[in-house]
Amino acid sequence: MITGKNYIGNQLSATANRTFKTFNPLLNIENDWNITEASNSEVNQAADLAAEAFKTYSKISGATKATFLREIANEIEALGDDLLEVYSSESGLPNGRAMGERGRTLGQLRAFANHVEEGNWVEASIDTAEPDREPLPKVDLRKMNIALGPVVVFGASNFPLAFSTAGGDTAAALAAGCPVIVKSHPMHAGTGEMVASAVIKAAEKTGMPNGVFSNLNSSGIEVGQTLVQHPKVKAVGFTGSIKGGRALYDLAAKRDEPIPVFAEMGSINPVVLLPKALHNRAEAIAKTYAGSITLGSGQFCTNPGLIIGIKSQGLTNFVNNLAEDIVKIEPSCMLHPNIAGAYQTNKKNALAQSGLQVLAGYEDSVEPNYARQVVTTVEGDTFLNNPTLHHEVFGPFSLVVQCENKAQLETIISKLEGQLTGTIISDDNEISEYPNVVNALQNRVGRIIFNGVPTGVEVCPSMQHGGPYPASTDSRFTAVGVDSIKRWVRPFSYQDWPNELLPDELKNENPLGISRLVNSVKTTANI
Ligand code: NAP
Repeated sequence: MITGKNYIGNQLSATANRTFKTFNPLLNIENDWNITEASNSEVNQAADLAAEAFKTYSKISGATKATFLREIANEIEALGDDLLEVYSSESGLPNGRAMGERGRTLGQLRAFANHVEEGNWVEASIDTAEPDREPLPKVDLRKMNIALGPVVVFGASNFPLAFSTAGGDTAAALAAGCPVIVKSHPMHAGTGEMVASAVIKAAEKTGMPNGVFSNLNSSGIEVGQTLVQHPKVKAVGFTGSIKGGRALYDLAAKRDEPIPVFAEMGSINPVVLLPKALHNRAEAIAKTYAGSITLGSGQFCTNPGLIIGIKSQGLTNFVNNLAEDIVKIEPSCMLHPNIAGAYQTNKKNALAQSGLQVLAGYEDSVEPNYARQVVTTVEGDTFLNNPTLHHEVFGPFSLVVQCENKAQLETIISKLEGQLTGTIISDDNEISEYPNVVNALQNRVGRIIFNGVPTGVEVCPSMQHGGPYPASTDSRFTAVGVDSIKRWVRPFSYQDWPNELLPDELKNENPLGISRLVNSVKTTANI
């Protein structure tokens, strides 16, 4: 069932002789299938095919792209339980999570299908000519969003479906009219191949040009680096670590023709606990956060890695309860030995910092690839003076910072790096006494949460998933929701162009019936 080959457009290909295996972290053994690394010539072929496909794919209608995207969803669904089994053997994640993530992936593909079928996303804007305008005549100008070109997508290991092969980045780029080359994540390359086969089947069934999609395997970073530097690649989508995202961003910037890299990276998602909330319900908040910190073994980009409060009896109660609750939770398996190893190293490094106190104590050891959750606490001054404590420890790890007063709380928030989310836990109107805290947090994050937890990312148009650097490389865009299509387009204007040669979106007759800005008025009317 899994061939281990690359998809170079519609063709399975394995010309190199270097192979690798994926790993089952629960069983602590390698999976059976061999995966073949993509060769340099396969990388070039995929890029050439994508550039060729772009010529036609970028011009096809929204309705046809919608048919393609819906067919991808259907084909992924048709893979049935086989896909879920491979997903679990390559990630250690349970069947329920696999089903949930598949549902999210299908939902994303179908949402993009609806989005491009409806068509308003091109943001058509028309300013008609005024030949008699004084002192100078005005030209006819018509603008809309058009596709950028071939896009390379790197998926993260912690979402083998929803942020991977046919995940959000791929769905958004295909919806925009960009061919996609996936650099498959080596830790779930079998899952990646199965999903790629579904995309290819859908492309063939719906008559898409060969090269609209390719899937390349690699266990190292060379294939990804070559792709990012390839002259025919015009944009990059990355979900993963700050180290990886930044390396690719720098590589793209050094090209003769620099290209955008939309990298969604790590975050510690600060949670601010206000005093009255802690006074009234420290115990309940601690219970909720013990669950959020350990959810999915802490392997979420929205994991609450930093909790900040002002010293009080309420904060002490919270810290004590969190310590008690967190040790009751069973340790869980991480995605693969590398992530489990990185967790141990980063945790050890954090725990070695002076002034850090560990709140949870364990005596027994854990199974291979399992992670023991840890909560720690530190004084506000110590946190402010030690940048190492500001870094993500990817896994079930959280740090509680105990501030001296409100002013220190504000200072700490304003000194944080950019984050995906920020959360405020408040009693009734308590938050209104903290306008500076709210402002400081808004300046550091992409999404602010009131009395909740940061884990859990709803896929819908109003979701912002991205924030100031290093949460993402461009905080103006989201990686989740239909607005993420905006990363893969550029605005383009036609001046005095004959009506019959204009794309349908800009023709006088408005044959698609889309909403357009005509002479500064939003309308679906003809011109
Ligand atoms: P990762 O180690 O950065 O890997 C992601 C992908 O990038 C892999 O295919 C990897 O290839 C490649 N890569 C890494 N460094 C590279 C380099 N220097 N040059 C070229 N390619 C490189 O991340 P991960 O372990 O899969 O995911 C965990 C991280 O993702 C966490 O930090 C988490 O917070 C973040 N994350 C963020 C979001 C978000 O939306 N913001 C969502 C999920 C996860 P190799 O494996 O071959 O090295």
